[in-house]
Amino acid sequence: MLLRHTPTEITERSALVINPAKTCQPVGAMYAALGIEGCLPHSHGSQGCCSYHRSALTRHYKEPVMAATSSFTEGSSVFGGQANLLQAINNIFTVYNPDVIAVHTTCLSETIGDDVPQIAEKARQEGKVPAGKYVINASTPSYVGSHVTGFSNMCLGMVKGLAVKTGKKNGKVNIIPGFVEPSDMEEIKRLAAEIGVPITLFPDTSGVLNGPLTGKFRMFPKAGTPVEALKGVGEAIGTLAMGEWASADAARYLDSEFKVPCRVLDLPIGLAATDRFIDALRKIAGVAVPEKIEFERGQLVDMISDQHQYFYGKKVALAGDPDQLIALTEFLVSMDMLPIHIVTGTPGKKFEGRIRELTKDMGRPVNVRGPGDMFLLHQWIKNEPVDLLIGNTYMKYIARDEDIPLVRHGFPILDRVGHSYFPTVGYKGGLRLAEKILSALLDRKDRDSPESSFELTL
Ligand code: SF4
Repeated sequence: MLLRHTPTEITERSALVINPAKTCQPVGAMYAALGIEGCLPHSHGSQGCCSYHRSALTRHYKEPVMAATSSFTEGSSVFGGQANLLQAINNIFTVYNPDVIAVHTTCLSETIGDDVPQIAEKARQEGKVPAGKYVINASTPSYVGSHVTGFSNMCLGMVKGLAVKTGKKNGKVNIIPGFVEPSDMEEIKRLAAEIGVPITLFPDTSGVLNGPLTGKFRMFPKAGTPVEALKGVGEAIGTLAMGEWASADAARYLDSEFKVPCRVLDLPIGLAATDRFIDALRKIAGVAVPEKIEFERGQLVDMISDQHQYFYGKKVALAGDPDQLIALTEFLVSMDMLPIHIVTGTPGKKFEGRIRELTKDMGRPVNVRGPGDMFLLHQWIKNEPVDLLIGNTYMKYIARDEDIPLVRHGFPILDRVGHSYFPTVGYKGGLRLAEKILSALLDRKDRDSPESSFELTL
């Protein structure tokens, strides 16, 4: 294994990333765009970028991912990609007839300086965009930010490109769910429905990237946020943005341009963050929390307190996206676990401060870096070993090298299934996450226990 050579001694690096804890912006933009009903994502760049982004999503969701590309050649790299994009828009509407084309840029088209909004407007003026169809766009240069930034930029692109100012309120609440699984989006919708809050969830990949096998291919699954609903997001009574990194920009834009007040919440992963989400929904609806939700909450509290002895004092190292890591850290601390090494590849000044605030009562120092990489995380682990790893599939190299159990969470998960079907948000999601953590710890305990303490029951 290559990671066997990771040195324990840490050298500060400023110009070298090793084993990044992120992927590139257009992956997130493409994922967000797939959450619009009848939308074809379009990658304005070379074919290689588009193939990579599609395959990154397909390998995680185990579903085919449709997207078009401007197919840059040497000529477009020198003279710009306007001609390619104009032709692509014409071809796509003629051949595939989507409701929306969601164009995101790539490193190459950003470096050339292509003005995609101008090109889209030109396409409209030349009659290449049929009536009732839309071209939206997001600027997603991959040399800044990460897949999370790309997701956020495309959410902003949806609002800028589709929201309509009418001056009337529609009585709905916008929920921007963040870069979470289709199963999480489904769960957020279920919770809102249980409480009785009419919502527009955008984007919504549930049913798109975790759909059933029907034997029939549909280019555009009958799922995702309908265009009509997106046109109405400026008429909502409020917006709940789940996660500062993935959702806040679109919510703040709606606030400033459409006077739709927004609240930025943490992702509802774990007990406290879900409490805050449910409380926000309850206040908007002006209702008491339904008994069914109280029941689910009680189940999570029961499980955590029953198994507390196994969670207590266990050291954890985590890598992933900032919104997820903040919520996970709070959840782990609430179970008396010790998240001591935490790395995200996504930049953002507030990250380290939030983690330090959440861990300040743990009574011990915490290593946190954003942006950092998995090489640094591995070095921290070598200096102070942990009982558990939480992160994406790439963490399995560290898990194997250091012989530490791994709970897969985040993006991408390439070597397991389940994430797109079972949520980790909400109380039920918290149960699943706690169960996965517990199983990983107990499997290790069973493996390592001498016969004298090899327990049959918990
Ligand atoms: S990092 Fe840039 S060049 Fe590489 S796949 Fe992503 S967009 Fe394309």
